[in-house]
Amino acid sequence: MSSIGRYEQMLREAELRVTRPRLAVLEAVHRHPHADTDSLLNAVRGDLPEVSHQAVYDSLNTLTAAGLLRRIQPRGTVARYESRVGDNHHHVVCRGCGVIADVDCAVGHTPCLTAADDHGFVIDEAEVIYWGTCPTCSMARA
Ligand SMILES: [Zn+2]
Ligand SMILES: [Zn+2]
Repeated sequence: MSSIGRYEQMLREAELRVTRPRLAVLEAVHRHPHADTDSLLNAVRGDLPEVSHQAVYDSLNTLTAAGLLRRIQPRGTVARYESRVGDNHHHVVCRGCGVIADVDCAVGHTPCLTAADDHGFVIDEAEVIYWGTCPTCSMARA
């Protein structure tokens, strides 16, 4: 199946109308994980030159609300989007250049991910962001 066919199926399974901006946004996020809205707008315009900023913005919101995309927003940065959803993976962010990479869910003994007191909440996610310096920025500093 072509990737567009796969995106059509994802939209149908989420009971969303299949529209060209939504397909183009899904494709752009799959191709550019952790990209921000402006970068995605540019990528989508490669396929759909006439698409409006609002259509891309609305598609990102709709797809995120439907669980097809995940929005992350490390502090001090604009919102980023990714298509890797449903696995509660974490992110490592460079303090220097802001580059973001995926980190698989913490494994083994992780006491800080188990709330000492859940205050009666049913907890379904622990948001973890690792901050540091990426290899490129480390090299530039050395
Ligand atoms: Zn960096
Ligand atoms: Zn990610």
